[in-house]
Amino acid sequence: MELLERKIIEEGHVLSESVLKVDSFLNHQIDPELMKQIGDEFAGRFADKGITKVLTLESSGIAPAQMTALTLRVPAVFARKRKSLTLNQHLFTAEVHSFTKDTTNEISVSKDYLTAQDRVLILDDFLANGQAAQGLMNLVEQSGASLAGIAIVIEKGFQEGGRYLREQGVHVESLATIESLKERKVTFQREEKFL
Ligand code: 5GP
Repeated sequence: MELLERKIIEEGHVLSESVLKVDSFLNHQIDPELMKQIGDEFAGRFADKGITKVLTLESSGIAPAQMTALTLRVPAVFARKRKSLTLNQHLFTAEVHSFTKDTTNEISVSKDYLTAQDRVLILDDFLANGQAAQGLMNLVEQSGASLAGIAIVIEKGFQEGGRYLREQGVHVESLATIESLKERKVTFQREEKFL
């Protein structure tokens, strides 16, 4: 997606060879116009998949998930990050190790908002090693819902998550795939290498 790539080049900060900061439009301040275009793009790519719900993880997935859900005319649900185990029987829970924070969160979603009748599109801001996506897939599995696919705003193609998910047969769509962050420079991947 050209507009997204342009934003990344113009406003992104390469913090290290593996971390990109995009606080000016996605992770802190949000560009609603860009989010709308991202939502329309994902909605188009998954238009014929019978999606009933878009599932993301708080907080940075919420803006693009909401816009995708708006265009698909379905609800968006965000899994919450919880600090400790609380004995709430009405939740699906899974563990997710955070790539950027190096912490493990328990994520959860209410059984009211994910059911066996749902066909779910998982969406997240970044795909690195695939931990967040796996955690969300775990919640979908527990609910008995079916997985339509995974929508990723920015995939880091040099990390393992994308290949791992596609090898499992999951339909993954990314709007910008980064090949390298070496020498403080963002290089995009121009062809799909994992199909
Ligand atoms: P994964 O679970 O695939 O290893 O990492 C994805 C999660 O970590 C995303 O939810 C995102 O919040 C965070 N993340 C991973 N890499 C980056 C990055 O380079 N920049 C930012 N801003 N977040 C990242």
